[in-house]
Amino acid sequence: MNTECLFCNIANGHTDTAFLFENEDVVVFKDINPHAPIHLLIIPKRHIRSINDLTDEDRPILAELLMTAKEMAKRQQVAEDGYKLLFNVEYGGGQRVFHLHLHLMGGKKW
Ligand code: AMP
Ligand code: ZN
Repeated sequence: MNTECLFCNIANGHTDTAFLFENEDVVVFKDINPHAPIHLLIIPKRHIRSINDLTDEDRPILAELLMTAKEMAKRQQVAEDGYKLLFNVEYGGGQRVFHLHLHLMGGKKW
């Protein structure tokens, strides 16, 4: 864990952020500044800075993030209508929190 990383602190339960889902590898919580009625962040518990830092060994966690997103979309009842999944990568890609996270946004028309 990177003690200076906001999402490490969230994932480790050191903040009052409520989890919508948690397992051994990932946690899901609501984005604090939502861009859609449903805007969740799916993050690995382990600190990975961005997509650029993924290695071959990280293939399972990437699958876990995506499969968790799929399940959360169903639970939040946006699966059928459709939703967006987004990774912002590094500063130029809009990333502002440098702990890997997958945005799930739904519940509005784009
Ligand atoms: P990104 O721009 O891809 O790095 O996204 C970071 C996201 O984290 C933004 O959508 C923020 O609104 C969200 N965020 C920042 N701090 C918190 C927090 N404490 N709890 C929940 N979401 C947060
Ligand atoms: Zn972190």
